[in-house]
Amino acid sequence: MPPAHPFDDDKLKEECGIFGVIGVTDAANFVALGLHALQHRGQEAGGIVAHDPDTGFNSARRFGYVRDNFTSQKLMETLPGPLAIGHVRYSTAGSKGQTAIRDVQPFFGEFSMGGAAIAHNGNITNADALRRELIERGSIFQSSSDSECIIHLMARSLQRNIPERMEDALRRVEGAFSVVAMTRTKLIGVRDPLGVRPLVLGKVGDGWCLSSETCALDIIGAEYVREIEPGEMVVITDKGVESIRPFRPQKSRFCIFEHVYFSRPDSILGGRSVYETRRQIGVELAKESPVEADLVCPVPDSGTPAAIGFSQESGIPYAMGIIRNQYMGRTFIEPTEQIRNMGVRLKLNVNRALIQGKRVILVDDSVVRGTTSRKIKEMILDAGAAEVHFRIASPPTAWPCFYGVDTPQREKLLAATMSEEEMRDHLAVDSLKFISLDGLYRAVGEAQGRDPKSPQYCDACFSGEYPVEPADMLEKGFQMKAAE
Ligand code: SF4
Repeated sequence: MPPAHPFDDDKLKEECGIFGVIGVTDAANFVALGLHALQHRGQEAGGIVAHDPDTGFNSARRFGYVRDNFTSQKLMETLPGPLAIGHVRYSTAGSKGQTAIRDVQPFFGEFSMGGAAIAHNGNITNADALRRELIERGSIFQSSSDSECIIHLMARSLQRNIPERMEDALRRVEGAFSVVAMTRTKLIGVRDPLGVRPLVLGKVGDGWCLSSETCALDIIGAEYVREIEPGEMVVITDKGVESIRPFRPQKSRFCIFEHVYFSRPDSILGGRSVYETRRQIGVELAKESPVEADLVCPVPDSGTPAAIGFSQESGIPYAMGIIRNQYMGRTFIEPTEQIRNMGVRLKLNVNRALIQGKRVILVDDSVVRGTTSRKIKEMILDAGAAEVHFRIASPPTAWPCFYGVDTPQREKLLAATMSEEEMRDHLAVDSLKFISLDGLYRAVGEAQGRDPKSPQYCDACFSGEYPVEPADMLEKGFQMKAAE
């Protein structure tokens, strides 16, 4: 099955959303709703595992959207019980684009002390080495996913219970991981020591839930309690929440791109509204790179809050110069060649009456390959705009992400091969400016900007400074940035 947005190959793609609930009747229904709210984090496939004291563990894994699968009463009746976890995936590790159903999480393992299921958001950077070692020692892998290593490492652990086995396993794993797991009686949540990917705790009735983002708590009427801290494991039972610290403490390096693009604007990250952060990015952009123009228009939808901030700071009117077709759904998933060539026009259309004769500032969240930016610029000029100025709400994306985000190879990233001036020429726009790294840090609440000696966030896709060495990729020949 092709990706859900066939014309959207010009964005970085977050690959997974995870959700878990304990202590409610028919927990799987809550998980389905939670996954629906996290659908932006992965549209290729989804899965739910539930546990019921009478029937044991039950699971369902399906390709496609949550709403097209996990709304069926017949299916949901096969997932009874007060404890369930779920996962939506794009695919970062594993067989990209041609996922086998066996790669769809949650993964399940049967141990001597009972079964356990896990769902993982992130990417294990030493998965190849672990897999080789595990296979040599007799493990039989069922999938091509890096996440399955965790189950095999747990199987090899000599610890007496599943949370301890999980601690053991995760201490061997490098990279980025937020994990939601379950046994027959426990819901478990873990974040890697740097806390690269998000995970939050919520309270729902007498029960508890774990979610990649707070927007999924809202949909089930859960109350936001707090973030799981970097390096923290929580074990939740009917007695409450126990917090454990399995890893050596380290300074956190949360993914700064979650603020820019991946998370939903109605989520809260690090105590800050994502919408407000994005609006603030627009304010910083307008301060750093002002330009005379008649209109500020977002590239919908992700550029909208930054465009509002840019307009407020600059005093230039905000307008919807580009309209997104909200109903561009699955009808065109496998379009004919003729429709495919229409490309971005199927999804976006220019508000011609507004644009004609105007100097337009277009605000977008990022430039990855630059292919969509070029097409949008052409559409705006075709509609009679006098000038087109791009303002980008992230610094140039010049390095691939190895922590759970699908990025093209480095040479396909426009900013990896061109200077800002060359990109402007390539896109043939009147001006092109990106927010600076310091400006982005200010917008996320770091008043002094980025600390170059000890950056407060992961920003490797902009800076080339990777907080965890991507061991597997180095083995495959990836060249890190030379030390300055
Ligand atoms: S490399 Fe970029 S996208 Fe990946 S975790 Fe770091 S900031 Fe996020």
